[in-house]
Amino acid sequence: MIWQFIDNAVDRLSPTNLSRIYHLTPPWLMGRIRLSRFQTTVRWAAEHSPFYKEAFAARGIDAAAIKCPTDLKDFFTTPDDIIADPEKFLCKAPAIVFESSGTSGRNKKIFYDNAELEQMGQIMAAGTMLMGAGLEDRVANAFDFSMWIPGMLTHYALMAGGQFCMAFGKVDPIEVYRRLETYRFNVVMGEPTWLIRLTEIAERQGSFPLKLLLGGAEEMPPNAIPWMRDVWQGASVRMCYGSVELGSALGYQPCDQIDGYHIDDTDFLPELLDPDADGFGELAYTTLRRRVMPLIRYRSRDVTRLIDTPCPCGIPGMRMDRLRGRRDELIVASGGNLYPLMFESIFKAIPSLTGDWQIIFRLEGIREVLEMNVETTRTDIETLEQEIHRCCNALYPDLMKNLALGIFQMRLVVHAPGTIRTGRKIKRMLDLRYTKPVSPLLADASHQSPAEVEHVV
Ligand SMILES: [Zn+2]
Repeated sequence: MIWQFIDNAVDRLSPTNLSRIYHLTPPWLMGRIRLSRFQTTVRWAAEHSPFYKEAFAARGIDAAAIKCPTDLKDFFTTPDDIIADPEKFLCKAPAIVFESSGTSGRNKKIFYDNAELEQMGQIMAAGTMLMGAGLEDRVANAFDFSMWIPGMLTHYALMAGGQFCMAFGKVDPIEVYRRLETYRFNVVMGEPTWLIRLTEIAERQGSFPLKLLLGGAEEMPPNAIPWMRDVWQGASVRMCYGSVELGSALGYQPCDQIDGYHIDDTDFLPELLDPDADGFGELAYTTLRRRVMPLIRYRSRDVTRLIDTPCPCGIPGMRMDRLRGRRDELIVASGGNLYPLMFESIFKAIPSLTGDWQIIFRLEGIREVLEMNVETTRTDIETLEQEIHRCCNALYPDLMKNLALGIFQMRLVVHAPGTIRTGRKIKRMLDLRYTKPVSPLLADASHQSPAEVEHVV
């Protein structure tokens, strides 16, 4: 079969040539390769994995007849399916397991074999080259290695690319800072919050000209990017979108033309579920080349928007917007869909606020109130409020349009640092609009601290 032949040829390409392919392959050919890989994956999973075998039998799905995702009708896989019995997904013997981050005891376990790790390393290497990393670069890899995937995967990518590197793991940024000059590193990779801490050190103690800072595993506050670029004397700051389930990254930022990502739509088949009026919905995807634990129509819970118009940078293929949040955290309020990540971007842009905050939605009469609870030592509350409004305007103009229309009211409640958080985790958004007080004492929840309110709801 011709598509199989193309697949085998692609597998033998170097990361440099693989990254060129993204530039050169016309979308129609990408589409054919994608569908061929999708069909092969569905058949493989139906034949070898107890989970898919049972699920398809229960729905009367004949894998041989499946041509495209919608042929599978309402069949999707979910994080809960993986948590319930990850080994039931396995189609062949794994060599390594990774877990999603978190200590809830409900971590997702994802299995791979050596061939897949090498293949994902090759894909990731091509992706980093698209974003500007060259063969001659010297790379400090500060992604976390402990139990989850980014450190190890980045290491495989560096092995595939052949760049000089050091596998730091997520160490204290000062350790990397001290070695930048020693080893002449010019590319640093790590989580955005870690890269920000490293940049703060460089701002205080002196910086070096870096070529590229590459982040992933969480969102980068947009305002941090120009500041990082300045401190590191003109370095590019790029992000990729990956997860333990994705293995390699699904989204890359090879250009400055979009706020979101270019999608690797030859290794993943993305779909968008239940889009809202703005086109934002839940991202689902099928892994197209994995044979140990393929994920078919996997609901990522991440909310984004797919963009299929061509990017001005000339790279063909689909793109996606910045993540708007997690589907299970969505609250429909204030005239739109709101997610904690939106407020995190706003508050992170204001340095005088601590990282602890909570949004509470209330009803006062029939009026909806979006209450922002933040921590700061500042006393110029009016100026702070203006700064927050400016930030909201820049990042989420639709939200502010609804505010201007009087759809809701916004209120800022300032707390002393260290007073919002009472436990290990903060519930970032709390919807009290339709919650009946459970005792007369709690009838007026506005007299309580947000953390106290969280306990009673
Ligand atoms: Zn582009």
